[in-house]
Amino acid sequence: MNLEAVIGLEVHCQLASCSKIFCSCPTKFGALPNTQVCPVCLGLPGVLPVFNKRVLELAIISGLALSCKINNHSRFHRKNYFYPDLPKAYQISQYDEPLATGGSINLDGKKIGITRLHLEEDAGKLMHAEGASLVDFNRCGIPLIEIVSEPDIRSPEEAYAYLTEIKAILQYTEVSNCNMEEGSLRCDVNVSIRREGEGLGEKVEIKNLNSFRGVEKALHYEIERQIEVIKSGRKVFQETRLFDEKKQVTFTMRAKEEAKDYRYFPEPDLLPLIVEKEQIESLKSQVPELASQKKERFMKDYGLSEYDAKILTSTKEMAIFFETCLRSYDKPKIVNNWITTELLGLLAEKKKKLADSLVKPELLTKMLLLIDDGVISGKIGKDVFAEIFASGKDPEEIIKEKGLVQIKDTDSLYLVIDEVLSENPQAIKDYQEGKKKAVGSLIGQIMKKTMGRANPELANQLLLKRLGEDI
Ligand code: ADP
Ligand code: MG
Ligand code: ZN
Repeated sequence: MNLEAVIGLEVHCQLASCSKIFCSCPTKFGALPNTQVCPVCLGLPGVLPVFNKRVLELAIISGLALSCKINNHSRFHRKNYFYPDLPKAYQISQYDEPLATGGSINLDGKKIGITRLHLEEDAGKLMHAEGASLVDFNRCGIPLIEIVSEPDIRSPEEAYAYLTEIKAILQYTEVSNCNMEEGSLRCDVNVSIRREGEGLGEKVEIKNLNSFRGVEKALHYEIERQIEVIKSGRKVFQETRLFDEKKQVTFTMRAKEEAKDYRYFPEPDLLPLIVEKEQIESLKSQVPELASQKKERFMKDYGLSEYDAKILTSTKEMAIFFETCLRSYDKPKIVNNWITTELLGLLAEKKKKLADSLVKPELLTKMLLLIDDGVISGKIGKDVFAEIFASGKDPEEIIKEKGLVQIKDTDSLYLVIDEVLSENPQAIKDYQEGKKKAVGSLIGQIMKKTMGRANPELANQLLLKRLGEDI
């Protein structure tokens, strides 16, 4: 029996508008509970929602970045349910006429369909503490888009890759900060098992997953659970489950509710959403070059490997850092090497983000020019770079302070070379007997004596001269 997993994801993403979707309350994260609320988002009687235009623009840009069709006509519905974090007892969402439909993203050549992208408001936040339950309504009315995928995903790893790509696209387009710790990006997972080639099986939804790794782990567990159920001749029931991060298992939360449970009806206090062609066209220009396109361009224009191009475009910030360097230092491969090995190495070691790093493109390129000019050697460059990373100081200043300037004058180098030769009569003999390798160890000692500051080419040349070569 060839069983396969079928997975579809629902991603909720907070749009980066300063005010809420139907009122002018601020959306700033971290405010004291219930300080960013008003009669509208608290759902007091007699209030009317006013739709935030900026939210619509951000949602359209998101839809375009995900290759969706932006629908000229869409509308809001009320999704009715009672829960303490939802003071109106309904959520304003979109139902059968969403803002955008029929998109897709590409995962290394495999296309994952996006069924729909719709607008909705967030609910509040419940906190349970020491025998009491508290509610913070600051999140009520925070603008969200929900991105629903087709059931095209086939493994936990593919789900992880899908989420990573969606996040990269939303971050590149700057419609959201996608910060999972702040709840700006959340994901629900739907998964079922079927015999390969047959119709879809009964699906289970897993809610409240707060990391991409969590999604991956929950799916691994759930797929195995469902396969066992099927193999033992029982049936998988449609239900909503939760994932226990500590025990790494999913467990039943409730029987799955259906559309009819929500008693959807068109929101009577809001007009249908009409989006004109001209508006879509003008917003198209705000969709920037996305990670995958940038990657292709970096490979083509700068001759980078796919591996390097992928690292450099993994965040917009890094891609900008790289291209800013190229403006004053036009050697892409060298810049790439310093970023992907030295800079990322130090960032990982010190657990820092690029944004917090003291290394700025001007400092890196200034140092690279100093290497090219022979002021310092490439090897010393690594020490200078580490110092820039630690202090943010100008490389020239570091070199002066630490006395790292390369030794390039013949007299100084001969002094060192003669000293090394007088200490190593055996090496000279070896060389004269044809063991050319002896040069390497002599150069090594010259470097050691000068603490790496001898210009390697010149030192090599002068050494050979002293050894009697005619150059
Ligand atoms: P619901 O009405 O239960 O929310 P939807 O049709 O809106 O279901 O689908 C929600 C998500 O579940 C979508 O991402 C979709 O791709 C996925 N999905 C639908 N059917 C299945 C299935 N049988 N197995 C796995 N995922 C599914
Ligand atoms: Mg749904
Ligand atoms: Zn409000």
